[in-house]
Amino acid sequence: MTDFDADVLVLGAGVIGLSTAICLAEAGVTVTLAAADPPQRTTSVAAGAIWGPHLVGMDDRIEDWARITLDRLDGLSHPYQGVSELAGIVRATAGIAASRDPQAAPPEFSASAGDLSACRPGDVPPGYASAWRLTATTVAMPSYLGYLENRLGRAGGRTAFASRISKLSEASALAPSARVIVNCTGCGARDLVPDPDVVPVRGQVVVTANPGVTEFFVGTGGEPGGPGDLTYLFPYSDVVVLGGTQQRGNWSLEPDPRTAARIVAACSAIEPALRDAPVLEHRVGLRPTRSRVRLEAERDGHVTVVHNYGHGGAGVTLSWGCAEEAAGLALAALS
Ligand SMILES: Cc1cc2nc3c(=O)[nH]c(=O)nc-3n(C[C@H](O)[C@H](O)[C@H](O)COP(=O)(O)OP(=O)(O)OC[C@H]3O[C@@H](n4cnc5c(N)ncnc54)[C@H](O)[C@@H]3O)c2cc1C
Repeated sequence: MTDFDADVLVLGAGVIGLSTAICLAEAGVTVTLAAADPPQRTTSVAAGAIWGPHLVGMDDRIEDWARITLDRLDGLSHPYQGVSELAGIVRATAGIAASRDPQAAPPEFSASAGDLSACRPGDVPPGYASAWRLTATTVAMPSYLGYLENRLGRAGGRTAFASRISKLSEASALAPSARVIVNCTGCGARDLVPDPDVVPVRGQVVVTANPGVTEFFVGTGGEPGGPGDLTYLFPYSDVVVLGGTQQRGNWSLEPDPRTAARIVAACSAIEPALRDAPVLEHRVGLRPTRSRVRLEAERDGHVTVVHNYGHGGAGVTLSWGCAEEAAGLALAALS
């Protein structure tokens, strides 16, 4: 086990743990981030990702967290002194959100768009009953997680991967001087806390070379859990991320070849150029769903544990809002 002296130990190297650790390190406290898996092997790397509260227990905190995150993401995507570290990684992307329901409401991620408009019937993609054209904030997750890891390092945070623990009480051994532990373990929280309210919703994506696709597509409204449930594609400069699946209670991290073929076929029906695009990678992640996001502090002996998990299909969307609040709870416990 690694023993890093720190005020705060953050458990988890996904988008939630990294963002929370950055808020703490940039506030001047010493932080160690420990995790079983490094950022590039988390659920977070499998996200599309688009800003929009999806598959998350809705309550009155969600809107604020999502708005704060959108604000931070927009700030990061704007160049500073002509340079943007995140050019092409966090950006406004034009696209279409379609539904099989003719009466569908505007998509949940439309709040990030200034230019939402209903598609004319002739422009609704095949197999769908209604569609909206809009611009939304998208994030290329592998690069974004790399940015977050570098930013944490620049702020003085240290990392220790391959640090799996089976009980929260073991966490103190990873950083014995830490008076606060922030639990950002996603689906891992189910066994670690333990918290049976955490249930994985498995998502599988296919990454192809980009044959020239510039607009995103999200199609919803099929039989819940069925093959037409969710189809999406997000283009980045050299790759396209194709999805998806929403399999509740499925813990498998193995890509399923038949699912991959079904995803490529569904996305090719929308963007025919994808049919022959070389497949570069398969990714699988487990969305940590819960009846509501758990963001609260509890005292455990001489240590305070701040929980920050259960973000479902919206961890990227809520990341900065939740990170800032969790960091505030941790700082209050230190003072
Ligand atoms: C296919 C797919 C598409 C998605 N699309 C979007 C999207 O478009 N927009 C959006 O906002 N969200 C999206 N999501 C959801 C988003 O990815 C998750 O909400 C988010 O990744 C959760 O982040 P996290 O940091 O809590 O968990 P994770 O990324 O799972 O990280 C958990 C960390 O905790 C560590 N850990 C767990 N257990 C232990 C333990 N016992 N000991 C030590 N360390 C442990 C892990 O090793 C890991 O480092 C998508 C998810 C999937 C799967």
